Amino acid sequence: MSVLIEIHQFPCLNDNYGYLVHEPGSGATIAIDTPDAEVYLAEAEKMGWQISEIWNTHWHPDHAGGNLKIKEATGCRIIGPAGEADKIPGIDKRLKGGDRVELGDATATVIDVPGHTLGHIAFHFPDQDVAFVGDAVFALGCGRVFEGTMEMMWESLKRIKKLPKKTRLYCAHEYTASNAKFAVTIEPENKALREYVAWIEKRRAEGKPTVPALLERELETNPFLRADLPEMQLAMGHAGNAAATFGEIRGRKDRF
Ligand code: ZN
Ligand code: FE
Repeated sequence: MSVLIEIHQFPCLNDNYGYLVHEPGSGATIAIDTPDAEVYLAEAEKMGWQISEIWNTHWHPDHAGGNLKIKEATGCRIIGPAGEADKIPGIDKRLKGGDRVELGDATATVIDVPGHTLGHIAFHFPDQDVAFVGDAVFALGCGRVFEGTMEMMWESLKRIKKLPKKTRLYCAHEYTASNAKFAVTIEPENKALREYVAWIEKRRAEGKPTVPALLERELETNPFLRADLPEMQLAMGHAGNAAATFGEIRGRKDRF
């Protein structure tokens, strides 16, 4: 039997999203990353949930900065990427790709998605069609490649691309509107993208989030996930080379 998890999403800092994930059977609650300890603790209290674990995707302060405060307040356990454990405050358990982690009766699989940082991981709940992807991939975007190489980041995005199409991607930032402005410069003729952009503009005008993003829609519109398409490779001047095509798109976005 697959257990339904509850996800509570709320804005944090300037443009981060906070996520609390609750498994009602056991009462377990995880904080996905910790941009802001006060906000997380207040939201947990509002929900009547007790944070039992923190799951970190990567070490950046807008993801792990609230770890110690939340641990102090709740006594929670902290799990995070083995590849950058030395930079994760208060880490208790180290994870790498392929590991399984439990939230009560629900299970998540860890996916290695290095590039933005070298140890970046994502958490996939296959039974729920939910993935927490941190700064690896955004709606119509992807994280800046700070620590890894373009090849490495492309390999990471390929792992995301292979998830079931109905997977909802819970990314860590509301960057969608500005990502959309860039995406249309790469694929001005993409009809699905145009429809998506119209939806995004409407959502933002209403003050509503555009996250989570449906993987199926991202595959049709997110330029960074489309570097393996021959027409995209040709347009970017790297026929037959997906990683170089990805690198070209990422470079253009960095200069945009
Ligand atoms: Zn980051
Ligand atoms: Fe971030």
